[in-house]
Amino acid sequence: MMFNFQIEKPKTALIDYQTTYDFIALGLGPAGMNGALYAKRKGLKTLLVGYDLGGQLNNTSDVDNYLGLGNVDASVMIQKFKEHITALEVPMLTEVKVTSIQKNDVFEISLDNGEILKTKTLLYAFGGNPRKLGIPGEQAYASKGVSYCVTCDAPFFKKKHVIVAGGGNSALDAVIDLSRIASKVTIVHRSQFKGDQTTIDQIKALPNVDIHLETQILEVQGDITMTGVRVLDKKTQTESFIEADGIFIEIGHIPNSSLLEGLVDLNDAKEIKVDRFQQTSVPGLYAAGDVTDNPNKQIIIATSEGAVAALSATSFINQKGDK
Ligand SMILES: Cc1cc2nc3c(=O)[nH]c(=O)nc-3n(C[C@H](O)[C@H](O)[C@H](O)COP(=O)(O)OP(=O)(O)OC[C@H]3O[C@@H](n4cnc5c(N)ncnc54)[C@H](O)[C@@H]3O)c2cc1C
Repeated sequence: MMFNFQIEKPKTALIDYQTTYDFIALGLGPAGMNGALYAKRKGLKTLLVGYDLGGQLNNTSDVDNYLGLGNVDASVMIQKFKEHITALEVPMLTEVKVTSIQKNDVFEISLDNGEILKTKTLLYAFGGNPRKLGIPGEQAYASKGVSYCVTCDAPFFKKKHVIVAGGGNSALDAVIDLSRIASKVTIVHRSQFKGDQTTIDQIKALPNVDIHLETQILEVQGDITMTGVRVLDKKTQTESFIEADGIFIEIGHIPNSSLLEGLVDLNDAKEIKVDRFQQTSVPGLYAAGDVTDNPNKQIIIATSEGAVAALSATSFINQKGDK
Protein backbone atom coordinates (compact mmCIF):
# COMPACT_ATOMS: atom_id res chain seq x y z
CA MET A 1 0.00 0.00 0.00
CA MET A 2 1.28 3.48 -0.89
CA PHE A 3 0.96 6.32 1.64
CA ASN A 4 1.41 9.81 0.25
CA PHE A 5 1.66 11.68 3.53
CA GLN A 6 4.84 12.38 5.46
CA ILE A 7 5.37 10.44 8.68
CA GLU A 8 6.59 12.91 11.25
CA LYS A 9 9.95 11.73 12.48
CA PRO A 10 10.39 11.84 16.25
CA LYS A 11 13.15 14.07 17.55
CA THR A 12 16.25 12.24 18.73
CA ALA A 13 15.82 11.76 22.47
CA LEU A 14 18.55 12.56 24.92
CA ILE A 15 19.44 9.76 27.30
CA ASP A 16 17.01 10.14 30.19
CA TYR A 17 18.30 8.61 33.41
CA GLN A 18 15.17 9.74 35.33
CA THR A 19 12.60 7.99 33.15
CA THR A 20 11.58 4.34 33.02
CA TYR A 21 12.00 3.15 29.42
CA ASP A 22 9.58 0.65 27.88
CA PHE A 23 12.36 -1.32 26.18
CA ILE A 24 16.12 -1.22 26.46
CA ALA A 25 18.22 -3.34 24.12
CA LEU A 26 21.65 -4.19 25.51
CA GLY A 27 24.32 -4.93 22.90
CA LEU A 28 25.28 -3.11 19.73
CA GLY A 29 25.53 -6.25 17.61
CA PRO A 30 22.92 -7.33 15.04
CA ALA A 31 20.50 -8.68 17.69
CA GLY A 32 20.42 -5.56 19.85
CA MET A 33 20.31 -3.17 16.90
CA ASN A 34 17.36 -4.91 15.25
CA GLY A 35 15.54 -5.33 18.56
CA ALA A 36 15.77 -1.58 19.18
CA LEU A 37 14.71 -0.82 15.61
CA TYR A 38 11.57 -2.96 15.94
CA ALA A 39 10.69 -1.59 19.40
CA LYS A 40 11.10 2.00 18.20
CA ARG A 41 8.86 1.36 15.19
CA LYS A 42 6.26 -0.10 17.60
CA GLY A 43 6.19 3.24 19.42
CA LEU A 44 7.90 2.01 22.60
CA LYS A 45 10.13 4.39 24.52
CA THR A 46 13.31 2.67 23.45
CA LEU A 47 17.03 2.88 24.10
CA LEU A 48 19.91 0.94 22.53
CA VAL A 49 22.92 0.57 24.83
CA GLY A 50 26.36 -0.98 24.46
CA TYR A 51 30.02 -0.66 23.79
CA ASP A 52 31.15 -1.20 20.20
CA LEU A 53 28.73 -0.75 17.31
CA GLY A 54 28.68 -3.86 15.14
CA GLY A 55 29.70 -6.44 17.76
CA GLN A 56 31.47 -9.43 16.26
CA LEU A 57 31.10 -7.96 12.77
CA ASN A 58 34.10 -5.83 13.72
CA ASN A 59 36.22 -9.03 13.66
CA THR A 60 34.84 -10.26 10.35
CA SER A 61 35.99 -9.61 6.80
CA ASP A 62 33.46 -10.69 4.15
CA VAL A 63 29.88 -11.76 4.82
CA ASP A 64 28.39 -13.88 2.05
CA ASN A 65 25.19 -15.24 3.59
CA TYR A 66 22.92 -12.31 4.49
CA LEU A 67 19.94 -12.38 2.15
CA GLY A 68 19.89 -9.48 -0.29
CA LEU A 69 23.35 -8.10 0.42
CA GLY A 70 25.43 -10.54 -1.63
CA ASN A 71 29.10 -10.70 -0.73
CA VAL A 72 29.61 -7.68 1.48
CA ASP A 73 32.47 -6.32 3.55
CA ALA A 74 31.43 -6.55 7.23
CA SER A 75 32.32 -2.87 7.77
CA VAL A 76 29.84 -1.93 5.02
CA MET A 77 27.22 -4.07 6.74
CA ILE A 78 27.81 -2.26 10.06
CA GLN A 79 27.47 1.05 8.23
CA LYS A 80 24.18 -0.04 6.60
CA PHE A 81 22.77 -1.18 9.96
CA LYS A 82 23.87 2.08 11.56
CA GLU A 83 22.32 4.20 8.79
CA HIS A 84 19.01 2.39 9.26
CA ILE A 85 18.78 2.87 13.02
CA THR A 86 19.98 6.46 12.68
CA ALA A 87 17.33 7.17 10.00
CA LEU A 88 14.65 5.86 12.37
CA GLU A 89 16.17 7.95 15.18
CA VAL A 90 16.58 5.04 17.55
CA PRO A 91 18.11 6.61 20.69
CA MET A 92 21.51 5.06 21.25
CA LEU A 93 24.07 5.16 24.07
CA THR A 94 27.44 3.83 22.88
CA GLU A 95 30.86 3.28 24.44
CA VAL A 96 29.42 2.34 27.83
CA LYS A 97 29.82 -0.98 29.59
CA VAL A 98 27.01 -2.48 31.61
CA THR A 99 28.34 -3.55 35.00
CA SER A 100 25.24 -5.13 36.60
CA ILE A 101 21.54 -5.81 36.06
CA GLN A 102 18.93 -6.02 38.81
CA LYS A 103 15.23 -6.80 38.76
CA ASN A 104 13.12 -4.85 41.23
CA ASP A 105 9.75 -3.35 40.17
CA VAL A 106 11.51 -2.65 36.87
CA PHE A 107 14.92 -3.66 35.48
CA GLU A 108 17.82 -1.50 36.70
CA ILE A 109 20.95 -1.42 34.58
CA SER A 110 24.15 -0.04 36.10
CA LEU A 111 26.70 1.49 33.72
CA ASP A 112 30.42 2.08 34.05
CA ASN A 113 29.77 5.83 33.80
CA GLY A 114 28.09 5.60 37.23
CA GLU A 115 24.54 6.06 35.88
CA ILE A 116 21.59 3.70 36.26
CA LEU A 117 18.99 3.11 33.52
CA LYS A 118 15.47 1.81 34.25
CA THR A 119 13.21 -0.15 31.93
CA LYS A 120 10.00 -2.19 31.98
CA THR A 121 11.31 -4.75 29.48
CA LEU A 122 14.85 -5.67 28.60
CA LEU A 123 16.56 -7.34 25.64
CA TYR A 124 19.90 -8.87 26.62
CA ALA A 125 22.03 -9.32 23.47
CA PHE A 126 25.64 -9.31 24.64
CA GLY A 127 26.67 -12.00 22.16
CA GLY A 128 29.78 -14.06 22.69
CA ASN A 129 33.02 -15.13 21.11
CA PRO A 130 34.34 -18.31 19.56
CA ARG A 131 36.83 -20.12 21.81
CA LYS A 132 40.37 -19.76 20.41
CA LEU A 133 43.26 -22.23 20.32
CA GLY A 134 45.61 -19.44 21.43
CA ILE A 135 48.50 -20.59 19.23
CA PRO A 136 50.97 -18.63 17.07
CA GLY A 137 49.58 -17.79 13.62
CA GLU A 138 45.93 -18.13 14.65
CA GLN A 139 45.36 -14.38 14.77
CA ALA A 140 47.66 -13.55 11.84
CA TYR A 141 45.80 -15.92 9.48
CA ALA A 142 42.26 -15.10 10.72
CA SER A 143 40.09 -14.79 7.58
CA LYS A 144 43.16 -15.91 5.58
CA GLY A 145 42.47 -19.59 6.14
CA VAL A 146 41.55 -19.59 9.84
CA SER A 147 37.79 -19.67 10.43
CA TYR A 148 35.50 -20.27 13.39
CA CYS A 149 32.28 -20.75 11.42
CA VAL A 150 31.61 -23.58 8.99
CA THR A 151 28.15 -22.27 8.13
CA CYS A 152 29.69 -18.90 7.20
CA ASP A 153 32.86 -19.96 5.38
CA ALA A 154 32.66 -23.56 4.11
CA PRO A 155 31.75 -22.54 0.51
CA PHE A 156 35.05 -20.59 0.28
CA PHE A 157 36.90 -23.95 0.58
CA LYS A 158 35.22 -25.84 -2.26
CA LYS A 159 37.44 -28.71 -3.43
CA LYS A 160 40.22 -27.69 -1.01
CA HIS A 161 41.87 -29.44 1.93
CA VAL A 162 40.70 -28.20 5.31
CA ILE A 163 41.51 -29.08 8.91
CA VAL A 164 38.93 -29.17 11.69
CA ALA A 165 40.29 -28.58 15.20
CA GLY A 166 38.18 -30.12 17.96
CA GLY A 167 36.61 -33.40 18.98
CA GLY A 168 33.14 -32.58 20.32
CA ASN A 169 29.79 -32.71 18.57
CA SER A 170 30.16 -29.30 16.89
CA ALA A 171 33.53 -30.31 15.42
CA LEU A 172 32.10 -33.63 14.24
CA ASP A 173 29.13 -31.89 12.61
CA ALA A 174 31.57 -29.47 10.97
CA VAL A 175 33.51 -32.41 9.49
CA ILE A 176 30.34 -33.92 8.01
CA ASP A 177 29.29 -30.55 6.49
CA LEU A 178 32.78 -29.88 5.10
CA SER A 179 33.17 -33.38 3.67
CA ARG A 180 30.43 -32.47 1.15
CA ILE A 181 32.24 -29.32 0.00
CA ALA A 182 36.01 -29.72 0.52
CA SER A 183 38.07 -32.33 -1.32
CA LYS A 184 39.60 -33.56 1.95
CA VAL A 185 38.94 -32.92 5.65
CA THR A 186 41.49 -33.69 8.36
CA ILE A 187 40.25 -33.65 11.93
CA VAL A 188 42.91 -32.95 14.55
CA HIS A 189 42.14 -33.29 18.25
CA ARG A 190 44.43 -33.23 21.28
CA SER A 191 42.63 -36.16 23.03
CA GLN A 192 39.90 -38.69 22.13
CA PHE A 193 36.55 -37.76 20.53
CA LYS A 194 33.91 -36.46 22.95
CA GLY A 195 30.94 -36.51 20.53
CA ASP A 196 28.13 -39.01 20.00
CA GLN A 197 29.25 -42.48 18.94
CA THR A 198 26.84 -42.59 15.97
CA THR A 199 28.38 -39.37 14.58
CA ILE A 200 31.90 -40.69 15.19
CA ASP A 201 31.02 -43.86 13.26
CA GLN A 202 29.55 -41.75 10.44
CA ILE A 203 32.79 -39.76 10.19
CA LYS A 204 34.99 -42.85 10.20
CA ALA A 205 33.04 -44.11 7.18
CA LEU A 206 33.59 -40.94 5.12
CA PRO A 207 36.14 -41.58 2.33
CA ASN A 208 37.64 -38.06 2.31
CA VAL A 209 38.18 -37.68 6.08
CA ASP A 210 41.51 -38.24 7.89
CA ILE A 211 41.58 -38.49 11.69
CA HIS A 212 44.47 -37.45 13.96
CA LEU A 213 43.66 -37.98 17.64
CA GLU A 214 46.03 -37.33 20.58
CA THR A 215 47.54 -34.66 18.35
CA GLN A 216 48.10 -31.06 19.38
CA ILE A 217 48.10 -28.15 16.93
CA LEU A 218 51.15 -26.00 17.74
CA GLU A 219 51.09 -23.28 15.09
CA VAL A 220 49.30 -22.05 11.97
CA GLN A 221 51.84 -21.30 9.24
CA GLY A 222 51.60 -19.61 5.85
CA ASP A 223 52.70 -16.76 3.64
CA ILE A 224 49.93 -14.49 2.33
CA THR A 225 47.33 -17.08 3.35
CA MET A 226 47.80 -20.11 5.58
CA THR A 227 49.55 -23.12 4.11
CA GLY A 228 49.17 -25.59 6.97
CA VAL A 229 49.64 -26.36 10.64
CA ARG A 230 52.53 -27.69 12.70
CA VAL A 231 51.34 -30.49 14.99
CA LEU A 232 52.69 -32.67 17.79
CA ASP A 233 51.76 -36.35 17.92
CA LYS A 234 51.45 -36.79 21.69
CA LYS A 235 51.88 -40.57 21.58
CA THR A 236 55.23 -40.51 19.73
CA GLN A 237 56.22 -36.92 20.70
CA THR A 238 57.06 -36.20 17.05
CA GLU A 239 56.31 -32.97 15.24
CA SER A 240 55.07 -32.79 11.66
CA PHE A 241 53.46 -30.35 9.22
CA ILE A 242 49.98 -30.89 7.74
CA GLU A 243 49.48 -28.91 4.53
CA ALA A 244 46.02 -27.37 4.26
CA ASP A 245 44.17 -24.42 2.73
CA GLY A 246 42.12 -23.71 5.81
CA ILE A 247 41.40 -24.59 9.41
CA PHE A 248 38.02 -24.49 11.14
CA ILE A 249 38.42 -24.09 14.89
CA GLU A 250 35.41 -25.76 16.49
CA ILE A 251 36.25 -25.91 20.17
CA GLY A 252 33.27 -24.06 21.60
CA HIS A 253 31.74 -20.67 22.12
CA ILE A 254 31.94 -18.34 25.14
CA PRO A 255 28.63 -16.53 25.73
CA ASN A 256 28.72 -13.11 27.46
CA SER A 257 26.03 -14.15 29.93
CA SER A 258 27.81 -13.50 33.25
CA LEU A 259 25.68 -10.42 34.09
CA LEU A 260 22.55 -12.60 34.16
CA GLU A 261 24.02 -15.52 36.12
CA GLY A 262 21.74 -16.18 39.08
CA LEU A 263 18.92 -14.12 37.55
CA VAL A 264 17.87 -16.29 34.56
CA ASP A 265 18.16 -19.97 33.66
CA LEU A 266 21.34 -20.88 31.74
CA ASN A 267 22.28 -24.18 30.09
CA ASP A 268 25.50 -26.12 30.81
CA ALA A 269 27.40 -23.98 28.29
CA LYS A 270 26.21 -20.85 30.18
CA GLU A 271 24.00 -19.82 27.29
CA ILE A 272 20.68 -18.17 28.17
CA LYS A 273 17.69 -20.46 27.78
CA VAL A 274 14.93 -18.84 25.70
CA ASP A 275 11.62 -19.95 24.26
CA ARG A 276 10.43 -19.23 20.73
CA PHE A 277 9.37 -15.72 21.80
CA GLN A 278 12.97 -15.09 23.02
CA GLN A 279 11.55 -15.01 26.56
CA THR A 280 13.99 -15.99 29.34
CA SER A 281 12.91 -17.52 32.65
CA VAL A 282 12.21 -13.97 33.94
CA PRO A 283 9.02 -12.26 32.63
CA GLY A 284 9.82 -9.13 30.62
CA LEU A 285 13.46 -10.15 30.12
CA TYR A 286 14.34 -11.34 26.62
CA ALA A 287 17.58 -12.59 25.10
CA ALA A 288 18.60 -12.83 21.44
CA GLY A 289 21.57 -13.73 19.26
CA ASP A 290 24.78 -15.55 20.14
CA VAL A 291 24.24 -15.36 23.91
CA THR A 292 21.20 -17.68 23.75
CA ASP A 293 20.96 -21.48 23.64
CA ASN A 294 20.21 -21.42 19.91
CA PRO A 295 23.17 -23.43 18.53
CA ASN A 296 23.13 -21.51 15.25
CA LYS A 297 25.26 -18.40 15.67
CA GLN A 298 24.56 -16.27 12.59
CA ILE A 299 23.93 -12.61 11.80
CA ILE A 300 20.57 -13.20 10.13
CA ILE A 301 19.45 -15.34 13.06
CA ALA A 302 20.58 -12.73 15.62
CA THR A 303 18.73 -9.93 13.79
CA SER A 304 15.61 -12.04 13.50
CA GLU A 305 15.70 -13.00 17.19
CA GLY A 306 16.12 -9.32 18.11
CA ALA A 307 12.94 -8.55 16.17
CA VAL A 308 11.03 -11.40 17.85
CA ALA A 309 12.17 -10.17 21.28
CA ALA A 310 10.97 -6.61 20.58
CA LEU A 311 7.58 -7.84 19.38
CA SER A 312 7.25 -10.10 22.44
CA ALA A 313 8.16 -7.17 24.70
CA THR A 314 5.49 -5.04 22.98
CA SER A 315 2.84 -7.71 23.67
CA PHE A 316 4.05 -7.96 27.27
CA ILE A 317 3.67 -4.21 27.77
CA ASN A 318 0.31 -4.12 25.97
CA GLN A 319 -1.04 -6.94 28.14
CA LYS A 320 0.06 -5.22 31.33
CA GLY A 321 -2.05 -2.29 30.16
CA ASP A 322 0.37 0.36 31.35
CA LYS A 323 1.29 1.68 27.89
C1 LIG B 1 35.30 -14.17 12.67
C2 LIG B 1 33.80 -14.29 12.57
C3 LIG B 1 33.20 -14.35 11.33
C4 LIG B 1 31.82 -14.46 11.23
N1 LIG B 1 31.27 -14.52 9.99
C5 LIG B 1 29.93 -14.59 9.87
C6 LIG B 1 29.33 -14.63 8.57
O1 LIG B 1 30.01 -14.59 7.54
N2 LIG B 1 27.98 -14.74 8.53
C7 LIG B 1 27.19 -14.81 9.65
O2 LIG B 1 25.96 -14.89 9.53
N3 LIG B 1 27.74 -14.77 10.87
C8 LIG B 1 29.08 -14.66 11.02
N4 LIG B 1 29.64 -14.64 12.26
C9 LIG B 1 28.75 -14.74 13.45
C10 LIG B 1 28.09 -13.38 13.74
O3 LIG B 1 29.09 -12.38 13.82
C11 LIG B 1 27.30 -13.46 15.04
O4 LIG B 1 26.35 -14.51 14.94
C12 LIG B 1 26.56 -12.17 15.34
O5 LIG B 1 27.43 -11.06 15.38
C13 LIG B 1 25.83 -12.27 16.68
O6 LIG B 1 25.22 -11.05 16.96
P1 LIG B 1 24.81 -10.65 18.44
O7 LIG B 1 24.12 -9.34 18.32
O8 LIG B 1 24.12 -11.76 19.10
O9 LIG B 1 26.18 -10.48 19.27
P2 LIG B 1 27.57 -9.75 19.00
O10 LIG B 1 27.80 -9.47 17.57
O11 LIG B 1 28.56 -10.58 19.75
O12 LIG B 1 27.40 -8.33 19.75
C14 LIG B 1 27.31 -8.25 21.15
C15 LIG B 1 27.63 -6.83 21.59
O13 LIG B 1 27.47 -6.70 23.02
C16 LIG B 1 28.57 -5.95 23.53
N5 LIG B 1 28.78 -6.24 24.95
C17 LIG B 1 29.09 -7.41 25.55
N6 LIG B 1 29.18 -7.25 26.89
C18 LIG B 1 28.93 -5.93 27.14
C19 LIG B 1 28.86 -5.13 28.33
N7 LIG B 1 29.05 -5.63 29.56
N8 LIG B 1 28.57 -3.82 28.19
C20 LIG B 1 28.35 -3.25 26.97
N9 LIG B 1 28.39 -3.96 25.81
C21 LIG B 1 28.68 -5.29 25.90
C22 LIG B 1 29.74 -6.40 22.65
O14 LIG B 1 30.80 -5.50 22.77
C23 LIG B 1 29.06 -6.39 21.28
O15 LIG B 1 29.02 -5.09 20.74
C24 LIG B 1 31.02 -14.52 12.40
C25 LIG B 1 31.62 -14.45 13.66
C26 LIG B 1 33.00 -14.33 13.75
C27 LIG B 1 33.64 -14.23 15.13
